Amino acid sequence: MINDSLYKCEKTLPQMPVTMGSMADNQTSDFRNIAPQINYDKCISCMICWKFCPDVAIEIINDSPKINYKYCKGCGICSVECPKNAIEMEMEAK
Ligand code: SF4
Ligand code: SF4
Repeated sequence: MINDSLYKCEKTLPQMPVTMGSMADNQTSDFRNIAPQINYDKCISCMICWKFCPDVAIEIINDSPKINYKYCKGCGICSVECPKNAIEMEMEAK
């Protein structure tokens, strides 16, 4: 929990790492422990998952969504937003 008596403005916040590169440098897969799997039998290619993915980790290839696991952080937003329940989040073996 943040102690608001410590943090009054941005100048009192601790230093933190900031990425200087583009999103292409942010390969967020290392901290993923669950991964989305698309069931293409259920998928209707509406691309709602592509629209909602905060890491732009879903590509459209031949009118079909494809997860780029280098960039997927496993947040599960695509699974929640899919209107056909076509995306299951599965535990990953590391
Ligand atoms: S949101 Fe679901 S149905 Fe739509 S493209 Fe993505 S996986 Fe397919
Ligand atoms: S789990 Fe999150 S980061 Fe990965 S493809 Fe779905 S919305 Fe994008």
